[in-house]
Amino acid sequence: MIKPFDKPITAARPALPSLEEFRIGLEGIWDRGWLTNNGPLVEQFRDKLTEFCGTKNLSLFVNGTIALQIALQGMGITGDVITTPYTFVATTHVLFWNKLRPVFVDIEPEYYSLDPAQVEAAITPWTSAILAVHVYGQPCRLKELEQIARKHGLKLLYDAAHAFGVKVDGTSIAQFGDLSMFSFHATKVFHSIEGGMLTFRDPKYLPMFDYLKNFGFKNETEVVLPGTNGKMNEFQALMGLLLLKPLDKMIEQRKAINVRYRERLASIPGIRLVAQPADTVHYNYAYMPVEVDERELGWTRDELYTKLREYNVLARRYFYPLVPDFACYRGLVPSAELPVARRVASRILTLPLYSDLAIDDVDRICDIIAHIASGSGRGTAAVTHSKNAELELVHKVAQS
Ligand SMILES: *Cc1c(COP(=O)(O)O)cnc(C)c1O
Repeated sequence: MIKPFDKPITAARPALPSLEEFRIGLEGIWDRGWLTNNGPLVEQFRDKLTEFCGTKNLSLFVNGTIALQIALQGMGITGDVITTPYTFVATTHVLFWNKLRPVFVDIEPEYYSLDPAQVEAAITPWTSAILAVHVYGQPCRLKELEQIARKHGLKLLYDAAHAFGVKVDGTSIAQFGDLSMFSFHATKVFHSIEGGMLTFRDPKYLPMFDYLKNFGFKNETEVVLPGTNGKMNEFQALMGLLLLKPLDKMIEQRKAINVRYRERLASIPGIRLVAQPADTVHYNYAYMPVEVDERELGWTRDELYTKLREYNVLARRYFYPLVPDFACYRGLVPSAELPVARRVASRILTLPLYSDLAIDDVDRICDIIAHIASGSGRGTAAVTHSKNAELELVHKVAQS
């Protein structure tokens, strides 16, 4: 009999440094009385990230959404932007905030990123850029997208919110395309409570982004652009600095969890594992997505999702629904299109994964899934639970 977890196991959980280290950092902030507006910790964080990403063209923001919104504005992107329906809503929202039209094209079934052939087929004279997403931290089809962008004179932007720490052939993922946005939100592999970063090829954008995130101020008396407020603060930078040190270890822990899930889930019919990263990729193990094959498993994805909740396993349907299916975007694309994205969105389930998730708990989650898959999980956990209690009572009575 498999018992539900006593406490909910969430899909993600923020990494935290030692409270003592954070307290020491706070004392510094208190001493200086400098809380925001490019303080010394933000400067230090920027230097460390510059080293980490191998690019000087880097700017920090209060969060990833504002970072990408400012990127589109600062790069002067206009008209139509080809993008993916299979992402977090913020990817599309930033287009709307810049009065750009999202053109959704389908994804490839292996790593769920934009399908280059579909991208090329969707290009029109109004297309100005491609906005692709490294879904779950797996790199997009980098070479193909780069070729298409160059051939048609389009800007190539990556929403790399999931991909911090990823390398391709030893090169940081931050160095691909014209620009990449990273999110340092608490639930990502690496975080600064909230936070965002842009890395980009052309240094001319640096002053532009700096103005835009600080109300358009060039100096004390000159406002050169109608900017917004997108500055990172000292508390965020402190968290980021403290979590950058254990990053490699945290990714190793994530990898061990991923390996265990893969070993344990491989034999369960109806649970399809996502393709392994290519040999050239140093992956960050950001998420643990699986596809549920309803016919093989005997349960729909939503049934499995609900069933797992009864065991206190809070898996997520990430990404579902597709962005074009949200009320605010409905009608932009005919619903019959995007077959791959639709299929994936209807089958995807992301299982709990965070660096300090115990391997024993991974085993228990897999036992629960196997138990549900075997069909013996039909009927709710609670009911099975009380049946078990009944049986125990019968035993006790029989023994006495
Ligand atoms: C988290 C996330 C964002 C938004 O980043 P924030 O830092 O939370 O604003 C954008 N795109 C994707 C794919 C994300 O997962």
